[in-house]
Amino acid sequence: MKIPLVDLKAQYQAIHNEILPAIHDVLEAGEFINGKYVAEFENSFARSIGAQYCIGVGNGTDALFIAMKSLGVGPGDEVITAANSFIATSEAITMCGAKVVFADVDPETYNINTAIIEEKITSKTRAIIPVHLYGQPADMDPILELAKKYGLYVVEDAAQAHYAAYKERIAGTIGEAGCFSFYPGKNLGAYGDAGAIVTNNERLASKIRMMANHGRVSKYDHEFEGVNSRMDAVQGAVLNVKLKHMHSWTTKRQDAADLYTGLLKNIAGIVTPVVREYAKHVYHLYVIRAPFRNKLQDFLRSKGIATGVHYPKALPNLLAYKYLDHTATDFPVASKNEGEILSLPIYPELTVEQIEYIVNCIRTFFHV
Ligand SMILES: *Cc1c(COP(=O)(O)O)cnc(C)c1O
Repeated sequence: MKIPLVDLKAQYQAIHNEILPAIHDVLEAGEFINGKYVAEFENSFARSIGAQYCIGVGNGTDALFIAMKSLGVGPGDEVITAANSFIATSEAITMCGAKVVFADVDPETYNINTAIIEEKITSKTRAIIPVHLYGQPADMDPILELAKKYGLYVVEDAAQAHYAAYKERIAGTIGEAGCFSFYPGKNLGAYGDAGAIVTNNERLASKIRMMANHGRVSKYDHEFEGVNSRMDAVQGAVLNVKLKHMHSWTTKRQDAADLYTGLLKNIAGIVTPVVREYAKHVYHLYVIRAPFRNKLQDFLRSKGIATGVHYPKALPNLLAYKYLDHTATDFPVASKNEGEILSLPIYPELTVEQIEYIVNCIRTFFHV
């Protein structure tokens, strides 16, 4: 059996009857950047997650950069974020001219360890970016408390967490701004690059909208220098179609995860995802920890099963951050996880038979 890590073709086959006419409409309308399809998506997405404003942008990395830059984060500032994430999170901090400050992660959820944020705060700290990694929200209450105590902005990296929830609040609507990616492989994915920023702050929303569009007030009237990061109308139209399926797709991801967890539970040495009581986890990734991880990954590959490692190197251990002069002992949890974490295939179309096959192969590997 051949099982990919994500199966975008299976999803397209299921919805192509809706997608093709939607793209056709955009081509007929001849309005390719922003415009009514993007506005429709912005409004529907904002409404569906309970945010007041949504601004479509070019991608999730830009969403983080534009949100922080619009909040005034810049040279001389420090921004704290998690040691385990995709590099886009910390890249966006550097893009603003600010300094990246990493905090180690929680050993069970892999999200930022809120107990060690305070010791990272200095007089230069301006913001915290919690990442809702793999689809499980970070523990937001202690982060909001620290933000209040020290006067910091909280910008959520919700790129992996569409419709995840922390207590009663949907991920992305909890901090000053929430940043989403619609990269094709994300839970809500476009057919190219796209992203969005949500906020309940009207002034910030209009600043963000201008920042993403050359600081523009009208066509050739620019209040400040911004950037060019807008959503394509084709992506807006695709996202409008996909938005209607998100509830069902999210439930299917959760069902797949529950089945995995039930079947993997009694295999000694395997650690299944820990879901906190405050969290609605949307399983962008289903990440286990396993002994002999590399050998297990090779074995599963030989059985036709694609797996991933998110991420093979914690951010502070990358060459890109060598200038920060960290050692692996500065981030013991994130550094230890590098060799143990394994992402198993997960997507809404994954079948019970496929999951059972994957778990049986894991059993065979461990001789149980
Ligand atoms: C995908 C991702 C991003 C960046 O999104 P792009 O749309 O690829 O620019 C940022 N943060 C996290 C955690 C991501 O997974």
